[in-house]
Amino acid sequence: MDIPSSAPPRPPGAARSLTTEAVHAGREDLTALGLHAPPLDLSTTYPSPDSRGEAARLDAFAATGEQLAGPPVYARLDNPTTARFERALARLEGTESAVAFASGMAALTAVLLARGAAGLRHVVAVRPLYGCSDHLLESGLLGTEVTWAAPEEVPAALRPDTGLVLAETPANPTLAETDLDALAERCGDVPLLVDNTFATPVLQRPREHGAAMVLHSATKYLGGHGDVLGGVVACGEEQARALRQIRFATGGVLHPLAGYLLLRGLATLPVRMRAQSSTAAEIARRLAADPRVSRVHYPRLGGAMVAFEVEGDPHAVIGAVRLITPAVSLGSVDTLIQHPGSISHRIVAAEDRRAGGISDRLLRMSVGLEDVEDLWRDLDGALAASATAVSGPAAASAPPAGALVP
Ligand SMILES: *Cc1c(COP(=O)(O)O)cnc(C)c1O
Repeated sequence: MDIPSSAPPRPPGAARSLTTEAVHAGREDLTALGLHAPPLDLSTTYPSPDSRGEAARLDAFAATGEQLAGPPVYARLDNPTTARFERALARLEGTESAVAFASGMAALTAVLLARGAAGLRHVVAVRPLYGCSDHLLESGLLGTEVTWAAPEEVPAALRPDTGLVLAETPANPTLAETDLDALAERCGDVPLLVDNTFATPVLQRPREHGAAMVLHSATKYLGGHGDVLGGVVACGEEQARALRQIRFATGGVLHPLAGYLLLRGLATLPVRMRAQSSTAAEIARRLAADPRVSRVHYPRLGGAMVAFEVEGDPHAVIGAVRLITPAVSLGSVDTLIQHPGSISHRIVAAEDRRAGGISDRLLRMSVGLEDVEDLWRDLDGALAASATAVSGPAAASAPPAGALVP
């Protein structure tokens, strides 16, 4: 069964389960090709013996942004391995299409450029967002102008040149949740982009709640093993065409090996999410009952991320973990912990962090596939270290002007 990337989403009720789709989507043609594993195509260029014909195909792409029919031409235009990942992700998110990029930030950049190219440079965004997304908007680096708004303030913030409303739920790093149905309604005709990196389509499909576009840092749960950087936007075919044109012009393409690894990652995504979420929920319960912890953030939706504020020194927790890796990023099979005020959200001004509810005592943990008792033993020891540490200021001093910390 060959499913083109522009196939409409399956009608509700007719779909196979997401767990089944995760294993099979993007691989529909393999049996006919006599293959089991998807082929990895590393070509940068392809033979084009009919240059008149190629001219017509390239004209069509320039005019429409429609995925090239027939053989590929050049790897910045399209790649068959990456296209498999795009088809699979679109199926999981229930969108017509998906367009993959070199990273989550390259994906967000393409969305902002596409809206800007349509003359719609104003963005309304709900805080908190991932630190670099916040920075990209706040800095105006791409010529966009941002109005920060709480979800209920969105209608008042919309202008005739508003091209996008942007929200994350659960949000990085506080795991704050936004009611997507209500937010989508408040956006009116303006497309809502939801960063679904934390929930993944296993827990939440924003398209079903009125979002026009769904963004992932595929680096996180979609890849799932901490060894591939990527980003993707799942959306309608019309928006996908604009994004493909931007991708071709600006070059933020996903490497085919990354496309291969991301397709492989999708196959285990539902199993990983369920296992990691159940461990995270148990850890959140234990943290909530622990006197060394002042506050626990765990989404009602569930998920494998836990954030918590400690009574003692958060830096001592980071320094004392032995099994858990003290590192930024998330979504891997191993557990990671980091201090958003120092690392993931360092690029956000201190007062904006506070306004977004990001306390200097907040720690963000991405729970992996380890045994819950082993994880708890490590965390328990680290919390003991934080309680006895001579507590200095919770956050390091201000960074030098212009410092960029991912
Ligand atoms: C990591 C992250 C991003 C950025 O993705 P990269 O792949 O690192 O460019 C965007 N949004 C969220 C929620 C993230 O966690």
